[in-house]
Amino acid sequence: STDASSGQGFKGHDMLAPFTAGWQSTDLHPLVIQKSEGSYVYDINGKKYLDSLAGLWCTALGGNEPRLVDAAVKQLKTLPFYHSFWNRTTKPSLDLAKELLDTFTATKMAKAFFTNSGSEANDTQVKLVWYYNNALGRPEKKKFIARSKAYHGSTLISASLSGLPALHHKFDLPAPFVLHTDCPHYWRYHLPGETEEEFSTRLANNLENLILKEGPETIAAFIAEPVMGAGGVIPPPATYFDKIQAVVKKYDILFIADEVICAFGRLGTMFGCDKYNMKPDLVSVAKALSSAYMPIGAVLVSPEVSDVIHSQSNKLGSFSHGFTYSGHPVSCAVAIEALKIYKEKNILEQVNKIAPKFQEGLKAFSDSPIIGEIRGTGLILGTEFVDNKSPHDPYPPEWGVGAYFGAQCEKHGMLVRVSGDNIMMSPPFIMTLEEIDELISIYGKALQATEERVKE
Ligand code: PLP
Repeated sequence: STDASSGQGFKGHDMLAPFTAGWQSTDLHPLVIQKSEGSYVYDINGKKYLDSLAGLWCTALGGNEPRLVDAAVKQLKTLPFYHSFWNRTTKPSLDLAKELLDTFTATKMAKAFFTNSGSEANDTQVKLVWYYNNALGRPEKKKFIARSKAYHGSTLISASLSGLPALHHKFDLPAPFVLHTDCPHYWRYHLPGETEEEFSTRLANNLENLILKEGPETIAAFIAEPVMGAGGVIPPPATYFDKIQAVVKKYDILFIADEVICAFGRLGTMFGCDKYNMKPDLVSVAKALSSAYMPIGAVLVSPEVSDVIHSQSNKLGSFSHGFTYSGHPVSCAVAIEALKIYKEKNILEQVNKIAPKFQEGLKAFSDSPIIGEIRGTGLILGTEFVDNKSPHDPYPPEWGVGAYFGAQCEKHGMLVRVSGDNIMMSPPFIMTLEEIDELISIYGKALQATEERVKE
């Protein structure tokens, strides 16, 4: 855990908790969260924190939405579990599939496949795409292209698709069929004098060159988050997805949108695809699908892909894949209720009411001498600390500038995500304008304290 008052984490003290989720031990001195209420969580000592990350980019409806709890309890009392193998299923699973397919309108989607998480959804994507190409008699078309700094999950294949070195080098990853192309971060990677549009053109050309080098007949799919999340909150530069999609289409490569963070309103549109005119063949969702009250993810599949998989002439046999808890009725019942609430409460209107204040209020700190860039859209925002306002002058990692900022936020009653000198925020959709004010005020205090420590 972090101890802000001692000033640990600055210039030599490592207060960054490791990237790990599974270990549970009091030896590691974790911050133990006990209760949640609206946009706040409380730790085991009763200290209250504004939850600026919505759990882990996921509790869109905040901490105590009674309708989600009631939906879970009602389903638990009726049918706590039945599986969805061998053409058995449950009503909540069928109803959620229909609702989800109706909700996604960027392209027409025909089928939903349920998983327990975003990682499983992306693993499922790989198997689906391979199965599809096998069914079409072209098994050699099996490579995936993802992007540097992408995050697609933690299982072996989703970690391979991810473009973060920490997820690879300890594990003999990425798998050999995964290739990575450029991260579309304009501020960090543009050439002198290059406009955003020119930067996007260069990245699309690089993608095309990679495809040609590998052989288009070997490339199965390209996967992208609409806004990159864990890689540091990186919205796409102007014209990026138009140009990337044109390349992908030209070589008969499937386009997968990883909407695990962006879906259901975070960007001010129902899906990231709506915002950036993305026309995917396959989509992954999770997180806000159930507002994180129960674990669930899903893959949405286009009619073209689904028709091949389910065609009578497909001689491959069944798509042998699935999880005991795929389409878990309690998770599905909660997700159905979450989607209902998003519609009934007009969640997009709510997000678009608070997002401008969130973005403008925080971007007003961009002039800080220790901030390189504040970037974001809708209800997602990243801050990057650098020296000399230059992407090429990082602070020495052992200074722990980001960690110090995170600890200061914690001291003043707010939780943020710290990843090196990147700070990430993605508040619940239900935040009030007053809570956004509080969030900005705590950010300002933490920034001031961090600026002072850097000067010392
Ligand atoms: N894809 C994206 C874009 C994510 O941000 C995440 C998790 O943060 C995942 C996939 C993996 O989801 P999960 O942690 O539910 O496996």
